[in-house]
Amino acid sequence: MKRSEIVRLQERVGTLGDGFWGPMSIAACQQHLKNLMPSPHPFPVEGSPEFIDFFGPHGDKHYSPPRKKIILPFTIYYGDKPVKSLWAHEKCADSLLRVFQRLAEMYPDQASRKSAGILVYNGLYNPRLKRNSWNSWSMHAWMNAIDINAGRNGNKTAWPVNASMPIEVMECFAKEGWLSAGAFWGRDAMHFQATAPVS
Ligand SMILES: [Zn+2]
Repeated sequence: MKRSEIVRLQERVGTLGDGFWGPMSIAACQQHLKNLMPSPHPFPVEGSPEFIDFFGPHGDKHYSPPRKKIILPFTIYYGDKPVKSLWAHEKCADSLLRVFQRLAEMYPDQASRKSAGILVYNGLYNPRLKRNSWNSWSMHAWMNAIDINAGRNGNKTAWPVNASMPIEVMECFAKEGWLSAGAFWGRDAMHFQATAPVS
């Protein structure tokens, strides 16, 4: 993001708009998103005992989690391929549909969706380990995570200084309880997952 955009972001999350994204801005942004989340939170914390109770086993070569198809309110694109529906874990599919309905209201036409970067879809189900991890499964293996606009919001790209994911998109996810990696881990801003904040 440009400095002026970071100032606007800081003002939106209720902290001093000085253009410097430091610990106070990070904390304010996370609190801003947590304040939008439903209470009680609809999803368990990643890695908690409740997590497996709720979502069950991760997918692998022999097993796929129970899934549900949702029809999107607008068309997104996987490369050049139009995507009009998604399969997600049955425990968070309706929630993901509501995220997209919120996005459709926030960005009422394809031009505004394009400029927000939300037409670029980079995948949901992928039964794999986390990148740079030998023993920890990615949330994508449970079909409870989605990647959007990866080209500008990469795994090693710092958000918001170098990545572009708008706070408004993160708010649409937060209102359904989804975590935004950009806000909560400071990178990988393409990534959103249906789990509760750790605290
Ligand atoms: Zn991801």
